[in-house]
Amino acid sequence: MKQQYRSYQESCDFLIECTKKYPDIISVSTIGKSWEDRDILLATISLNVAFANIKPALLFTGTVHAREWIGNELGIEFIDYILNNYKNNPEILTTLTNNTLYLVPCLNPDGFEYSRQHFSFWRKNRRDNGDGTFGVDLNRNFSIGYRKSTQTNSNVYGGPEPFSEPETQAIKKFVDSHTNITIALDYHSQGNVFFPAHKFNHEMELEGTDLNSLCANMNYHIQKVTGRRYGINRGKPPTKLISGSGREYYYSKGILPVVVEVGTRNIPDYMQNMSESINENIPALLYALSEAKNYSKNAPKRVENFHIKSFSSDECHLAWEYEDNRDIYFEIYRNLNNKMACNDSSLIGITCNNNFIDKNLKSGTMYLYYIRAIDKLSHTKSPYAPKAKLKTLLEDNEFARTIFPNKSKVGYVAEKTLEANISHFGRNSLKVGVSSGRGISYGIMEFDLAGIPENAIILDAKISLYPLNRVSAKIEKYGEWSLSIINQKTIADIQDYHQVHEAKHVKTVGKSVPSEQLTQGIWSHWDFNEFERKKLQEELSKGKVIFKLEGPKELPIGRDSQIMVFDLGYGNQGGGLHYRPAIDIKYTIPSKQLSIELSNAITISEDKVIANKLACGFDKNRNKVYAYMSFDLSSLPDNKETVITEAWIEIHNTSTVKKEVDIRYDVEFVDFDELSYNDIKERERIEYIGYEVSSHELGRKKCHNFAFDHYSKLALEEMHEQDKEAKFIIRPTSVLSREHLINWAHEGENSAKLVVNYIVKRKHPLPNPKNLKAHVDKGTVKISWDKIQNDACVGYYVVRNRWHQPRNPFDGVKLYAGSDTFTYDTFGSTKVDKFYTVFSYDDVPNYSSGAVIEYKR
Ligand SMILES: [Zn+2]
Repeated sequence: MKQQYRSYQESCDFLIECTKKYPDIISVSTIGKSWEDRDILLATISLNVAFANIKPALLFTGTVHAREWIGNELGIEFIDYILNNYKNNPEILTTLTNNTLYLVPCLNPDGFEYSRQHFSFWRKNRRDNGDGTFGVDLNRNFSIGYRKSTQTNSNVYGGPEPFSEPETQAIKKFVDSHTNITIALDYHSQGNVFFPAHKFNHEMELEGTDLNSLCANMNYHIQKVTGRRYGINRGKPPTKLISGSGREYYYSKGILPVVVEVGTRNIPDYMQNMSESINENIPALLYALSEAKNYSKNAPKRVENFHIKSFSSDECHLAWEYEDNRDIYFEIYRNLNNKMACNDSSLIGITCNNNFIDKNLKSGTMYLYYIRAIDKLSHTKSPYAPKAKLKTLLEDNEFARTIFPNKSKVGYVAEKTLEANISHFGRNSLKVGVSSGRGISYGIMEFDLAGIPENAIILDAKISLYPLNRVSAKIEKYGEWSLSIINQKTIADIQDYHQVHEAKHVKTVGKSVPSEQLTQGIWSHWDFNEFERKKLQEELSKGKVIFKLEGPKELPIGRDSQIMVFDLGYGNQGGGLHYRPAIDIKYTIPSKQLSIELSNAITISEDKVIANKLACGFDKNRNKVYAYMSFDLSSLPDNKETVITEAWIEIHNTSTVKKEVDIRYDVEFVDFDELSYNDIKERERIEYIGYEVSSHELGRKKCHNFAFDHYSKLALEEMHEQDKEAKFIIRPTSVLSREHLINWAHEGENSAKLVVNYIVKRKHPLPNPKNLKAHVDKGTVKISWDKIQNDACVGYYVVRNRWHQPRNPFDGVKLYAGSDTFTYDTFGSTKVDKFYTVFSYDDVPNYSSGAVIEYKR
């Protein structure tokens, strides 16, 4: 099978042949020579290639590591694809008109040939280190973060000094002299993952959204071909700088660089896997090439201060700043998960204004927003503004909990590590699947549900896990990972492998995820459907719920591992609270019902006001007669904690209209103090309640319910808050009648009543924390605030954002949630200006509007 891969010489011959066939499109040059005197070839592709160097460019590098053959093969296949298709594919034509591709299929030709002919798993180049060892890891030989070492036999030996190698010198020289390069993609294997560049200071970077979106949009094209999504691994603390890598060198030159790790093995079965990897990467590469111009000096400027101005349970108001320019419009994208595509699939608005309102959102839900400025004439786009993120408010009757497992209640148990299983809890990672060393390995998580009332009605639930890496998932398309609720009666000790293995499932949750879709570096969510929510609801009475995560249980011949690693957020590989497994539950509670008796029944006509009578219709002069009702709301609980979920007025008619006339009667919610005919005639209506009933219906049945709509319920709560009575009139709608009255019951069991369904829930957030301070304490920024003296205060939520003031707790990096009155920005830098916002919250939770402090170094 290995014969299907091109040799280096075959690759070079192919490129030279192309320049003869397509001299206008492609040129080939030698950018340097290897230790063994091989030419390092670079292909330049553009329309017309003579002007290539004045256009924005993407740099492709492959096979920096000798055994990672995909780079060379993909590079050659990509060129072949372009040359075969550009004439009849307008998209490629446009892309090549505006952008240039520089492509080095193999930066390590000596190592590549050594790997092909002698030692498959060779990684380095072929320098003679002079001590009997060979090779320098070229991806440790660049200058940024270069680390000197004498371990010449190491696979990651970085060479005697930065750029000591002819291969790295060659690419450095080329990059340094081609400032038109805006994007650099370095192709490696394996892992099916993007590793965008990083400044490793755990602060948001201006280019962070650009890098993630570039990868997410490439993913969109990959997924169209094979259904696979690559991981996008960026920004997970604590990460060490990869010393001396090419990616960080390109980043230091102002280029957007990404390492793409393709496939699940370095040298896979060509027909089955390599061709699939190539097919899925070509459209992604074409897309990336089309983005080169959007990062050139001539592209529109990035939008500034893109932020969330205000939001509610179903709307979000975005605003931003941009210099006046009639040639510019803006595209706004919305996603539900981090690191998703920003393209037509997520475009929600195009506007020339500096603000946008997104409507009809779902309550208690996370939304991420992105924006680019577009030049109308050139269609060139700007880089992205840093993304804005929010969770919409809860609806009036909703509560929410995000629950993390206790350290000792989350871990994994493996078949062959029985003694050690206990030490797999609350530490580092969750390793799930099967390997020759561990045998079958299950993840297990127990969540405490005691904070949710037993009778809660679960409206929404999801479990989130962060796949950390899939390096041990070595087989393409093999196995599925699934999550199940475990029957608690069948397990006493979650740290015991045999018990976990034997435990009975109550229900599998959401979809199981096939290996090729289990991507690292992007949160995985399992959403509960209605039936699964019911099952979760049944666990409420037990005060906890246990989930088991399982993968494949056996390995094919010749394979040693299919293990997926999920982050735990604990231990030395964890990033603290950022990447902990979590269950999000949105719920409501059953309503209580209160039936409020009529306190006043009055009939008001032009010439008299009659107490203790409820009638409406027309007098002999064709003037309307009104029935007036009022209800005392004081039997409802404290208005700050009463949410009316449903309300209706029940009235019974005790008389009917004799003749067939089309008269209808409706109920109006009113507010006036004087009870005179004129006041009623000139009344201000708050709202109609329900729909009118016709005189015909009055004949058919006697009991009529008038239901409150959303607005009327709020008005009713307002009356309660102001200690006012709720007042209504019943009136005929017709103007064409004379002298008849409908009587409505005002005494006895059929008497008119106001029925209110309500729940007890805190309605308003607490005040903001006061006396916010941010100062450097022992090399870390410490943020502190005063305690809020209110029993309803559950805690404080601290978020930081480098670019704009966070207006909701989710718009930035979460630093803390809990009841202390201080926190440290543990992973943050003291040398970066930023905003911190502290929110107080109660048990709903309602978040306060947030107190902001700006930290300046
Ligand atoms: Zn590599």
